[in-house]
Amino acid sequence: MTFARRMSRVTVSPTLKVSAEADRLRRQGVDVVDLGAGEPDFSTPEHVKDAAHAALNANFTKYTPSAGVLEFRNAVAHDYSARYGVTVKPDEVIISAGAKQALYNAAMVLFDQGDEVISHSPFWPTIGDQIKLADATPVMVQTHREDGFAIKAGAIIDAITPKTKAIIINSPCNPTGALISEADMAAIADAAAARGIWVIADVTYEHLIYDPVPHNLVKVLLDRMPDRTVICSSASKSYAMTGWRCGWAIGPKALIGQCNVIQGHATSNINSITQKAGIAALTGPQDGVTVMLNEYRRRRDAVHGWLTADPRFVCVKPSGAFYLFPYVADLLSPTGIKSTGEFAEALLTEVAVAVTPGEGFDAPGFFRLSYATSMERLKEGVDRMFAFVAAMEKSGKIPSAATK
Ligand code: PMP
Repeated sequence: MTFARRMSRVTVSPTLKVSAEADRLRRQGVDVVDLGAGEPDFSTPEHVKDAAHAALNANFTKYTPSAGVLEFRNAVAHDYSARYGVTVKPDEVIISAGAKQALYNAAMVLFDQGDEVISHSPFWPTIGDQIKLADATPVMVQTHREDGFAIKAGAIIDAITPKTKAIIINSPCNPTGALISEADMAAIADAAAARGIWVIADVTYEHLIYDPVPHNLVKVLLDRMPDRTVICSSASKSYAMTGWRCGWAIGPKALIGQCNVIQGHATSNINSITQKAGIAALTGPQDGVTVMLNEYRRRRDAVHGWLTADPRFVCVKPSGAFYLFPYVADLLSPTGIKSTGEFAEALLTEVAVAVTPGEGFDAPGFFRLSYATSMERLKEGVDRMFAFVAAMEKSGKIPSAATK
């Protein structure tokens, strides 16, 4: 079968690949500890579900405006204006099926063949693949575990060429959990504004920041370059609403209008019931967000402690999101388990623990462990992982700890 050329440029999301394999084992009755999933284990808050029930009962089941109902666009505009001290108007907002569609629309609207789009690595694979689907070329600037995967303005600015169309910053970052500093974001914005380059900020994990550091990227960007800023986010991680497909983009009115043209031809409005749920999430009580954040922090600290008890798991303590990203090169060898891809595969088949190998994030030698699962399951997962490492050490497939 022959498919369009663009299909040869992209691959199946590695995170979805892991969950599919974990799912297959689970269906066979295997007790899988799934640390691969990039989604909260919490249930959607009750008042959000109530709003959805009410919408259904009121037969709110018809097409809505493609960009979302005004009440929802108002809610997003108000939420960002209030939380970040900026002025966002409802016609600067489009409601999309998750941050993923919000980012995709922006890519389709802005990028052309021959354009370069800068982002930072390790990266969430969709960012690179969306750039390619829009016929542009990703330029990934490496960040390093040695300095906590800091996203440095200097390195990003150095990557700018006359072909640069946009810079995509993901903070908190999946998979590293790193935050860009406001000063670095400001320096990037100034450089971009001076050259007419767009900045797209993926702040999907904006509510999941563990320490009280200043992180007002929205204001930093809108103060400097309101005409070329796009903010993409969603209710998925903040309100435990991954399956509802509820996200948004904020940007200049003309850009949002173009996103709406793309969306109008692709999917039209997101689910009408989801829109009512999203309004309740943004305008209702926010204490659930804090409860989840506190629990994620507890898990982050616990799992980080357990893992790094073995010095072969070299692991930055992440500032945001809900992933640990350990570096485990000392567990690999040319004659045993050669790569983190093989490590993840063997871990799943031998002890039924699912993690995502770093190769998918452009980071061989690392794997991603999601702590968006209960403390008991996390403990079970880490126990099994250590048992696996000990067994592999015995059989010579993992270098002995004593030799390191
Ligand atoms: N951005 C990042 C960095 C993500 O990790 C994800 C989800 N894995 C998304 C965007 C998209 O999430 P959603 O479409 O559910 O909002």
